[in-house]
Amino acid sequence: MPDEGYIKFRCLHTPGPAPACAGLDALIRIRNRLHGLGLIGVLPDGIGFGNISLRTGDGFVISASATGHIALATAGHFSLVERCDIGSNTVRCRGPLAASSESMTHWAVYQAAPLIRSVIHVHDRRIWSRMLEKGDPCTEPEAAFGTPELARSVMRLARGRSSLILAMPGHEDGVMTGGETTDAALELLLGCFNPG
Ligand SMILES: [Zn+2]
Repeated sequence: MPDEGYIKFRCLHTPGPAPACAGLDALIRIRNRLHGLGLIGVLPDGIGFGNISLRTGDGFVISASATGHIALATAGHFSLVERCDIGSNTVRCRGPLAASSESMTHWAVYQAAPLIRSVIHVHDRRIWSRMLEKGDPCTEPEAAFGTPELARSVMRLARGRSSLILAMPGHEDGVMTGGETTDAALELLLGCFNPG
């Protein structure tokens, strides 16, 4: 990808205690289940993939950056995202660790779809290629990882919806689901993981 015109992602992290909110225990449990299934983890080059979030009164909690290797995450592996700015590609977060570098994409869903309260993003070659073959909803092919373009593309697909499933052609193996609860988002994802 050419560097020209590419706005680098900026994370403004304020150290603080582990987030605490209703639904966080279920979020952690589902995150750990996805890790067990290999849908959240670490690539051979050491880069983590996959993240999960839950809307709160003042933003959303999301799995923190560089936690993909952890099998059993706890609240301390999550961060509260308080604000995002798509134009400057900036995320403001608070917690023991910085928020996932994919927080902007989750924020895009919450902005566009007030009914969606939880978002899951995983990497899986089988689900991703099957969705592309079927012509399921997809972000723009040129919208790459961590760019405002990807966030804008996700916003267009999520607008006004109460549930969401999409593939990211410009972000290899990237799939995202959203629902009114974390369980609903999980169910959508597992429906693709184990097609009946
Ligand atoms: Zn990803």
